[in-house]
Amino acid sequence: MGIYLDYNASAPIDMRVLDVMISVYKNVVGNADSRTHDYGKNARIIIENARNSVATLAGIKNDEIFFTSGATESNNIAIRGIREYGEKINKKHIIISAIEHKAVIEAANSLIPYGFEIEQIEPEVSGRINPDTIIDRIREDTLMISVMHVNNETGIIQPIMEIGQYLEDRDILFHVDATQSFGKLVNEIQKLKYDMMSLSAHKFGGPQGIGALILRKKGYRLPPVKPLMYGGAQEHGIRPGTVPVALVAGLGEACDLSLHEYELNNKKCSVIREGLLEILEQSKLKYKINGDSHYCIPGTLNVCLFGVASEALMLASKQYCGISNGSACNSHKYAHSYVLQKMGIPAEEIENSIRISWGANLEYKDIIEQFTELINVSKGLIF
Ligand code: PMP
Repeated sequence: MGIYLDYNASAPIDMRVLDVMISVYKNVVGNADSRTHDYGKNARIIIENARNSVATLAGIKNDEIFFTSGATESNNIAIRGIREYGEKINKKHIIISAIEHKAVIEAANSLIPYGFEIEQIEPEVSGRINPDTIIDRIREDTLMISVMHVNNETGIIQPIMEIGQYLEDRDILFHVDATQSFGKLVNEIQKLKYDMMSLSAHKFGGPQGIGALILRKKGYRLPPVKPLMYGGAQEHGIRPGTVPVALVAGLGEACDLSLHEYELNNKKCSVIREGLLEILEQSKLKYKINGDSHYCIPGTLNVCLFGVASEALMLASKQYCGISNGSACNSHKYAHSYVLQKMGIPAEEIENSIRISWGANLEYKDIIEQFTELINVSKGLIF
């Protein structure tokens, strides 16, 4: 199967996170909402400690964190959950970027039958959304703006800081899908201004199936989201259902580890990136990096190898590297990456583009060796 280089789809769980989870599975029974015995209390303590860890990493308060099953659910609550509020105040214009994950695009589109208008803003060829374009499109009836922090296909960091600053004192909700940046761009996230933020644990060493929606309070008031499901009062009713203690503990541990290690992790990932670029440079292959590298997170490389069909390359190099040519969420049927398309990249180049994404736990030597093999395979596939 080769070396796994598809961390943006899902990163492997950190063994220290797994140890914490196993210990919770073994030793903690009960429902964190049970008030009649200490089993419930013990589960509650673990959940609240984890909430504190997520809040500390985000630089916000504990009561602004709501556990969900992951970013898809968080995005859905943030976007679909504001429908009633929009109807009440008669604001039905929503701006999103055209390179959002499907969990944002489709959640937003689901509001169209309710009379909402969804305006998509296209990126520049750099892979970045121009904040001025977003600002230009704001109208009297703009209810919400949703822009991702880092794009999952290109790794390009979006100007969330600028948009957030502009919106700070305006009556428009700002949602940020931070799935690809949470636990990585820690320092930056702590400074961002936003109303809602989505994250998933499995993108930064935590387990799959757990994440959070961050709802920033203005005074004592949360953003006006309504839950999508009805049930118990867990997570203040925003996300009812028994809170999965071990998964939440895993998310908490991943946050604690990231807080202490993110700088080193980013450095290690940067060194790997430089190594990969050097191999490309020396390969004599004609290549082009998709998106402006200046804005790219250290652990992602989206590159077009001219004349090398990505589908053929992925098959032919399977024993060396597990890579992708787009988002896992769209890969059950082959279609051109809409992200690259919106950046204005020609179809032939998209067909020749691959995404490689990695983490700091990989050995430099291993990744360099396997990538070199991939490049050798590429040379044999040039059409
Ligand atoms: N948003 C982005 C930017 C993502 O990369 C992903 C995962 N590919 C999601 C949302 C959805 O995350 P999950 O599958 O964990 O719900």
